[in-house]
Amino acid sequence: MTNETWAQARQELIKRVGKNNYVTWIEPLKLALLADGVARFEVPTIFFGDWVQRNYADHIRSQLASAGAAVDRVEFALGSPAAEAPAPAKAQARPARSRSAADDDLPGAPLDSRFTFDSFVVGKSNELAHAASRRVAEGGPVTFNPLFLYGGVGLGKTHLMHAIAHELQARRPELRVLYLSAEQFMYRFVQALRERQIMDFKEMFRSVDVLMVDDVQFVAGKDSTQEEFFHTFNALVDQNKQIVISADRAPGEIKDLEERIKSRLQCGLVVDLHPTDYELRLGILQQKVEFYRSQYRGLVIADGVLEFLAHRITTNVRVLEGALTRLFAFASLVGREITLELTQDCLADILRSSDRKLTIEEIQRKVAEHYNIRLSDMIGPKRLRSIARPRQVAMYLSKQLTPRSLPEIGRRFGGRDHTTIIHGVRKIEELMAIDSQLADDLQLLRRLLQG
Ligand code: ADP
Ligand code: MG
Repeated sequence: MTNETWAQARQELIKRVGKNNYVTWIEPLKLALLADGVARFEVPTIFFGDWVQRNYADHIRSQLASAGAAVDRVEFALGSPAAEAPAPAKAQARPARSRSAADDDLPGAPLDSRFTFDSFVVGKSNELAHAASRRVAEGGPVTFNPLFLYGGVGLGKTHLMHAIAHELQARRPELRVLYLSAEQFMYRFVQALRERQIMDFKEMFRSVDVLMVDDVQFVAGKDSTQEEFFHTFNALVDQNKQIVISADRAPGEIKDLEERIKSRLQCGLVVDLHPTDYELRLGILQQKVEFYRSQYRGLVIADGVLEFLAHRITTNVRVLEGALTRLFAFASLVGREITLELTQDCLADILRSSDRKLTIEEIQRKVAEHYNIRLSDMIGPKRLRSIARPRQVAMYLSKQLTPRSLPEIGRRFGGRDHTTIIHGVRKIEELMAIDSQLADDLQLLRRLLQG
């Protein structure tokens, strides 16, 4: 009877708390006692019990009551590891699946089911990041730690991390995989501090097999969170547990991040996701179209539309996807074939903003900022190396990233002759080949400017 009541209550709980929360917090509960107005559940850790008590005890109480078992008190007690759960309930709840990460008490972020390796299109700009992620997803011995993925917005960092988590859950269900954003890490940390549960917090983060922290640049400047992150990181690396980190820039370029953390982050494999190229964008669009076709039958796309989009929307994949979604929604509403003309009308605003042209002025400003010199020195006469070199970098980038002619560029650099610009551009090309610091600077600046 007892187990039936609980089974019935759980059916309702799925609806009340949502599938994700249910799998994470309710499913692992083992009903130990239901009598005399008390429902007692066994939980795997103290942290888990506290969390469920605070967040779900009322739901559980009211659903037990609806199922015919009025209880006054819901308790959570640490289960002994060997304790068996009430057999029927367990068998019902988890057919054919052993313990998986989702069943554990890991307060990670939910994973997007669409972000898998299957749906990730590989191109030149992301092939290394993809290969490294695949390697981690095999769940074999740790070969590089951490895997540090970085790159601009919308280039697939989060997608790859979720794909790793999905794959690990499928291949190695016994592993405890925790994925969360750095912001969530901070939030949990602050909460643990406030509620004096820092030991539980530490215990929990040190007990995972794979830790993935997304957008780690977020902890920069947040001193105690950084500190805690650093200790968690070290503890896991010492135990040879895999860590995967993402950020919007390379470890060394994250401002207000402690040096020792930067150097720790650089110890593993640092991989850059480059801006997408035309082929990759086209590949992604084609894949999405396949998906939409399976949803709205009868959707017709004129030749050249995808090529047009891949050519014109170069900012990031998220914008590209958004454009396609809007286009399809519109076309299916009005029931028309998607022609080039419809595309241009429907996406006028997106196309216009992707059209935004970079100016020489913006390049000068960014470069001056990067090298910590005055903007006025960009166009001024100083010949000091510490000023002349950044000026040449700005000349080079102006030539590369804008359609301006050499004389025009010269004019904007304080009326210099076009031969001076040629000289500057050549100098940077030469140096780039032998000076890796300069090459890195250029790559960063390019990314910042093309954002
Ligand atoms: P980031 O975390 O780097 O900002 P996301 O991983 O959130 O970027 O990616 C943004 C969107 O673009 C997601 O919907 C993702 O599925 C999609 N996307 C990015 N790169 C690819 C790719 N190579 N193949 C398929 N979809 C991609
Ligand atoms: Mg992301």
